[in-house]
Amino acid sequence: MRRSLALGCLAAIAAADFTMHRRRPRWILIGLFDHPAHLATAGLLVLNAPPRPRRWTIAFLVGALLPDLDHLPLALRPEHPSPDDPRPVSHCLLAVAPVAALAGVTQSERLHGLAGGMAAHFLRDLGVGTGVPLLWPASARSLRVPYAVYVAGCMLLAGRAFLGGLRLPLGGRELDNAPRQLGSGLRLERRQRGRGRRGT
Ligand SMILES: [Zn+2]
Repeated sequence: MRRSLALGCLAAIAAADFTMHRRRPRWILIGLFDHPAHLATAGLLVLNAPPRPRRWTIAFLVGALLPDLDHLPLALRPEHPSPDDPRPVSHCLLAVAPVAALAGVTQSERLHGLAGGMAAHFLRDLGVGTGVPLLWPASARSLRVPYAVYVAGCMLLAGRAFLGGLRLPLGGRELDNAPRQLGSGLRLERRQRGRGRRGT
């Protein structure tokens, strides 16, 4: 399962980027290809992360799409931007800061996942299109890395997940599949809920 997921994520990214490169869709249609690739990038990170509760994973995947909400006002304009235009300045680390701070204060798994997912969104945007103004408002300059760096990162993550060589930080046990990771998260949640009901 873990291997299929890793290959599926890689294939989704390759298909989306190949189509966008060859077909050059209009700006308003780019999300149809770009958002599955964002989810797939986040999926590769999840597959390489230590076991987490399912609510963290879901929030991480939601967070991986969240920064593109700032495209909505642009989509409602009569004239849309060009795919070669810079991304909005709200695509920056400052947008993640309140969520990360709230996660730190509340220790909420969901908020931790959301903040991590938002940061993961920027990993793809750094290598695809016009880059990201990550340091806004200190600088409005869009930061970029070569697309090959992004692809190499995805291949490394997929390879690591495929080979199942991830070691847990505490037990040193081999994490060989995603269901086991998901299962441990669900058991953890059930135990916590049980404790809550017993009022401890
Ligand atoms: Zn974006």
